[in-house]
Amino acid sequence: MAEAGFPRSLSVSRVNDFLTCPLLYRFRTIDRLPEAPAPAAIMGTLVHSALEDLFALPAAQRTDQAAAELFDKAWSRLQEEDESSATAVADRIETSATLLASYFALEDPTRLAPHALEMGFETALTDDFAIRGYIDRVDVAPDGRIRIVDYKTGKAPSAAFQDKAMFQMKFYALAWWRLHGTIPAMLQLLYLGNTRMLRLEPTESELLATERKVLAVRESIALAARTENFTATPSRLCDWCDHQALCPAKGGTPPPIPPQDLWLERSPITKRS
Ligand code: SF4
Repeated sequence: MAEAGFPRSLSVSRVNDFLTCPLLYRFRTIDRLPEAPAPAAIMGTLVHSALEDLFALPAAQRTDQAAAELFDKAWSRLQEEDESSATAVADRIETSATLLASYFALEDPTRLAPHALEMGFETALTDDFAIRGYIDRVDVAPDGRIRIVDYKTGKAPSAAFQDKAMFQMKFYALAWWRLHGTIPAMLQLLYLGNTRMLRLEPTESELLATERKVLAVRESIALAARTENFTATPSRLCDWCDHQALCPAKGGTPPPIPPQDLWLERSPITKRS
């Protein structure tokens, strides 16, 4: 039988894994099978690092040239510390200039005074369950209104997929609300891949619906854990799945599920793209 209360916490990435494919959730969270870092995720980490370092500079020094230099430093560090990841994105590095230019087309960082950068959070939704993650940036207006900002190095989704993209932001807004008692005034997704911005002013009912959705996913995971039945759910996303060779939907055989006392919930939070 599953350990009582599993899972005790979820990040938005793990919620999305389970919604995409319960077997993918199992492979990542319970089996903790290794995955090759996706080139898009590596580029995302480089760009996020450059933007985080940019905001560490005095406001007047946050220029596009400074951002390019900070990106070059992050790229040099990656080459020194992680050769395989550097090789995976070597042919994409030239696009970094375009991504950073997109950022400056969307925002003027000299006019911003972030309240928090790369803010880790964990907050309980019930007595035995918490949500956790990292928020790229939190801005606080002079009148106290909160804006939560997330950067994406990819392109903005079509209208049909914008709700899915905004679920992540509502998850963060719910966490902020539960932690601080105020609903953020604005959620802002910056897509550097095509210089687009998605924004939402979340309502209390939207965040309550987000909470219900997260708790329902938690219940579904708990049921799958009790029965040790994480069903493969093929979709077009299988093309990007590292575990096709072990997937019954692709003719493979999953490894035996690990003993429950070895189940580890604190899988890495995947957030870059
Ligand atoms: S290949 Fe597809 S169905 Fe199989 S585990 Fe991966 S995402 Fe799920």
